[in-house]
Amino acid sequence: MTRAFDGDRLLVATHNAGKLEEIGALLTPYGVSVVGAAEMNLPEPEETGTTFVENARIKAHAAARATGLPALSDDSGIEIDALDKQPGVYTADWAETETGRDFVMAMTKAHERLLASGASEPWNARFCCTLVLAWPDGHDEVFPGVMEGRFVWPMRGAQGHGYDPVFQPEGYDVTFGEMDRWEKNRISHRADAFEKLVKGCFDA
Ligand code: IMP
Repeated sequence: MTRAFDGDRLLVATHNAGKLEEIGALLTPYGVSVVGAAEMNLPEPEETGTTFVENARIKAHAAARATGLPALSDDSGIEIDALDKQPGVYTADWAETETGRDFVMAMTKAHERLLASGASEPWNARFCCTLVLAWPDGHDEVFPGVMEGRFVWPMRGAQGHGYDPVFQPEGYDVTFGEMDRWEKNRISHRADAFEKLVKGCFDA
């Protein structure tokens, strides 16, 4: 039995505005509004884990402890098979520069490494998302989600965020960057994890 969430306002342990917006859109049908970590002045904990689950747990428990509220965190990234599943948990780190995140640089780095690896196309890849809902008493529920697809080059599309322009989901001929937001939110790795979260904690 999973523990049910019985409030109408959920703290989302992220400082990423794009993610907060996506999560808010996915939870609206369940009558739950979201508040972000920045709005609550929460510090960003160091993500020292080596898996999506470990990092999501670190963020959700830190936020729940700091506020006394149930907190939802999301840890996500892209795994590229020919790069031994890199960047994986380091997906955001690949975009880090002294002046902020540069995703064009990160996508270019991935493409250069694929060329250097000599791996032939298709370059299979997947977006992963692990959601953790943690309560202040230390209990948590974990929900992993995945979207299989390919890393494609060149970048295509101006929708979305992060690595969207280089990811073509299985069964589609457009990238996440070309897909409308509603469609992406319906099929994405985050939607997969959310379906499990909703079944486990919101639909109970
Ligand atoms: P996190 O904040 O540690 O979970 O970092 C996740 C990284 O993966 C960020 O750099 C995101 O931009 C990237 N990412 C996660 N989900 C998506 C997506 O749906 N589209 C594009 N990039 C994503």
